[in-house]
Formats: sequence, C-alpha cells, structure tokens
Amino acid sequence: MSGGDKLDFEIRPNPAPVSAADRAALLANPGFGRVFTDHMVTIRYAEGKGWYDARVEPRAPIPMDPAAAVLHYAQEIFEGLKAYRTSDGGVTMFRPEANAARFAASARRMAMPALPEDAFVDSLHRLIEIDREWIPTVPDGSLYLRPFMFASEVFLGVRPANEYLYVAIASPAGAYFAGGVTPVKVWVSPDYTRAAPGGTGAAKCGGNYAASLAAQAEAIEHGCDQVVFLDAVERRFVDELGGMNVFFVYDDGTVVTPPLTGTILPGITRESVLTLAVEAGHRVEERPVTFAEWQADAASGRLREVFACGTAAVITPIGEVRYPEGQFLVGGGEPGQFTMGLRQRLVDLQRGNAPDPHGWVQRVL
Ligand SMILES: *Cc1c(COP(=O)(O)O)cnc(C)c1O
Repeated sequence: MSGGDKLDFEIRPNPAPVSAADRAALLANPGFGRVFTDHMVTIRYAEGKGWYDARVEPRAPIPMDPAAAVLHYAQEIFEGLKAYRTSDGGVTMFRPEANAARFAASARRMAMPALPEDAFVDSLHRLIEIDREWIPTVPDGSLYLRPFMFASEVFLGVRPANEYLYVAIASPAGAYFAGGVTPVKVWVSPDYTRAAPGGTGAAKCGGNYAASLAAQAEAIEHGCDQVVFLDAVERRFVDELGGMNVFFVYDDGTVVTPPLTGTILPGITRESVLTLAVEAGHRVEERPVTFAEWQADAASGRLREVFACGTAAVITPIGEVRYPEGQFLVGGGEPGQFTMGLRQRLVDLQRGNAPDPHGWVQRVL
C-alpha cells in the first residue's frame, strides 16, 4: 500500500465453518483464550513493496520456515481489545483507534513497519463482520480480538527484518470473574523487574511477557494471583502488574497511578479510568508511588483501595499484598466502593448501556 491508498481486503469465507450447534455449545462456556472463530485476517509487508495481500480467510496454522526471524530475535508485537454485543443487537468496539495508535508505537520501538492505523481498525471490522455469530450472548461475554505482527523474513542475522506478517484472530470470552468480582492477591517480586529505562516496557511485545513469566510463577508459588513489578533502577517504585496497570485510592478521594515514564505500558483502560475519575470529581495524580509508601499508607488506613486495570479483566480489586518479609491487606481485603463503582461505569460505557460523551464506543454492526 502506498501513501493514502486504502487497503482492499479479499474475502475468502471458510468453506467448513464450525456448525451452529457446535458453536452454540462452545459459546455456552467459552472461558478465556481457548475458543477461536472461523476466520482470521492476514496482511503481508515487504520492504520496498509495502503492505499487500490483505485477506479475511479461514483460520488456519501459519506455515513458517525454521529460520523465520521472529523465532530467533523475537520481533513481535500484539494488541488486545474486545467487541461487545449491545442490547439492541448491534456490535461495538471500545476505543480501537487507541489500540491502533499503540500498535504503531510498539512497531516503531521494535524497528518494525507501522501498519496504517485505519487498516488496523478496518481489519477488525472485517473480522467481526464475518464472525459476528461468535460473539457470546452470555452475560459479560465479549469477543476478544488479538491483532499481532511478527518478522516473517527467513534469515539469521541481527537487523530489522524486511518482511512481516500481520494477523488478527478472535476468541469468544465469557465473564472474566465467574461468580462475581473477587479481589486478587499480588506478589511484589524481590528478584525480577519488568522494564528498565530505555527498554521495551512501553511496547506491547511478546518478549515483555516472556520475561515476566518466571516472576509470575514465583507469585503463584507464594499463593498469589499476579506479580507486581518495582522499578528496575531503585527497586522502590511501583511500576505495574505483569499485564495490568495499577491505581491507588486514598481516604480523601485522591486517585493515584504511576506516571508513564517509558517503563510502564500505556493502558487504554488506565487512560479511561483517569478520565472517568476526574469527571467523577476526584483529584487525580500521576506520580511515582514507592512500595514503602504503599505499606505505610495501607497500615495507617489512609490508603483505602488498590486496583489493577486492563482490557481482559477491566478492573480488578487488589485485596492482599505479599512480599518476602510479610503481607498486608488493603481495604480489609474487600473490593472498595470507588473500584466497584468505576468498574460498573466503565462496563456500562463499553457495553453501550450509558451515554458516551467521549466518543469511545465505535459501532461495528
Ligand atoms: C496490555 C497491557 C496493559 C493494559 O492495557 P489495556 O490497553 O488497558 O488493555 C497493561 N500492562 C501491560 C504490560 C500490558 O501488556
């Protein structure tokens, strides 16, 4: 695709889609990330040629040469967002342009070509249109969209690849918290960090997750659900969780989250929470928070609520914090009022059950 041309998608419908009966059985209890739809989008890139061969095609394995660059040097980025069925039978996405912009920013950090943002959004519209029957109707269900891109060029050598494949797949998801929202326990990792200044912490790349898995395993060994990472330089400041941003709510209503200094992933949920908190009349601060402060303010009761946020779980209360020397509760280990109220506001907005003054909700169908 050269400047300004719109990418045309060739549509190749799946000749053997999952039967309606099988699909209904899968959608009754899809869980998360286990069930996939009948189609995928693929777009290719080659240096000198640009973006080409945009297709909606049957979901299938991707043939790959053992020397494909991604398998060796991990040039890979991804996104995650959801499509929702609205009460009037329509379908919406939440802030897909923000995901498109972040995908382009991640690409630049990983020395990959940036997919034009309208092609990113368009690819998701095409996928949702053809697989619309896969959007769950169970309460709190959604169609999780996973666009990603990797270096497909066949070569061994340390330089940016000259060929890439963009793919978008979709996975029906049930309620993240079956049986109600329960606070999670988090483990503050003493050994591992997630991102250093100048590193890839602000890019949504697979490598960040690979690097977080040992810490996540450590969290689970200590009876926790998620890991909290401290900053890599001083090991004092709270960065974020493995895949969610973190917020602190104080007794005077102030809402605090660590600033985006390059080591934190700029979450779209994070940004939406900041906007909604200001609108609800809260004082909002993006400032560094030390773990010592977290401990002291939880002990004094000044810190009332802590929660994590991201697309998959929306907003998750944090009820207990563990670290090598001890553990403590936040808010008595119960979900807080601000956390749950904000969660509801966000969910109502995302599902089209509340007015959308920011134009965050994009109608697909
Ligand atoms: C994706 C992600 C988030 C959350 O971003 P959202 O846009 O809110 O889904 C937070 N932290 C990390 C490390 C992530 O990869």
